[in-house]
Amino acid sequence: MKRVLSGMQSSGQLTIGNYIGALRNYVKLQHLHQCFFMVVDMHAITVPQEPAALREQTEMAAALYVAAGLDPNKATIFLQSHVSAHAELGWIMTTLTNMGELERMTQFKDKAEGKDSVGAGLFTYPSLMAADILLYNADIIPVGDDQKQHLELTRDLANRFNNRFGEYFTMPEAYMPEVGARIMSLDDASKKMSKSSPNPGSFIGMLDEPDVIRKKLSRAVTDSGREVKFDPQNKREVSNLMSIYSHFAEMSLVEIEAKYEGQGYGPFKKDLAEQIVAVLEPIQQRYKEIRRSGEIHDVLKKGAQEAAEVANQTLLEVKKRMGFVL
Ligand code: ATP
Ligand code: MG
Repeated sequence: MKRVLSGMQSSGQLTIGNYIGALRNYVKLQHLHQCFFMVVDMHAITVPQEPAALREQTEMAAALYVAAGLDPNKATIFLQSHVSAHAELGWIMTTLTNMGELERMTQFKDKAEGKDSVGAGLFTYPSLMAADILLYNADIIPVGDDQKQHLELTRDLANRFNNRFGEYFTMPEAYMPEVGARIMSLDDASKKMSKSSPNPGSFIGMLDEPDVIRKKLSRAVTDSGREVKFDPQNKREVSNLMSIYSHFAEMSLVEIEAKYEGQGYGPFKKDLAEQIVAVLEPIQQRYKEIRRSGEIHDVLKKGAQEAAEVANQTLLEVKKRMGFVL
């Protein structure tokens, strides 16, 4: 059995990008391996968050994990801020990271673009992410394509630590869906769909009402042609919608092309909305029940205890090897 770890930032409402790129795989992997899934609330504060919104978004993300099918008896579900070893190893990893490595990170460049001032935490965030993974000596990291570069840094840091202080950390591997590892925005297919986008029309939230989903899809940008064809080079927008369709309808891209041959984008977009609604509605129903019952607090308490047990042991070993007085 392998160790699996991943997390989502509580920086907004989870989107179907998060669902396709990562959460669906969490649900699958919980049956196969020892899994740790957290809400990375300490990463969320690398951009400013209103306290009430942060609290709500964090509980929302954890409840959505469970509503989407994560079972707290199979996987450990917890909040990053509940296990202080993350912050401690995060600092240690920051000291092992070179400035140049962080300067190369495309996510930092994207998120800092056009801003007058940017917090130092947004810059050093990849070192904390490395700590998140290494604390559990995780083998498999289910993430979207945008996290590839951060995962590469994690491997470099693990190697650096192992070389200096003796072989200890496992080399983590990314685990991504073949189609949909990078779902693009509905309003601009050159940008990835992101829950923190200021334009709600750019993403479909996992808690969006059916009519909102229908409206967002009818407004989704497409090219001026009418052929439903998977061609990410020349038909980025339609190809993106096809990737989404493929996941929600569990159909291959070829089957989708055949189904809409000669019909234009209208029927395709309408059906896509209904496919998404059909999958999200039961999740939304369970979500409401979970929030109403308050059970998520018990899940997170149990998860924090389980996670801390593993994380604290790793931290202790790291400190011992580095020469801290214990
Ligand atoms: P933010 O805008 O705050 O960074 P986000 O939507 O990028 O939010 P994260 O919390 O950063 O979400 O990432 C959670 C997980 O979802 C990660 O595994 C990430 O790779 C994956 N993910 C994020 N966006 C997409 C996307 N557009 N397509 C596929 N996977 C995605
Ligand atoms: Mg992100």
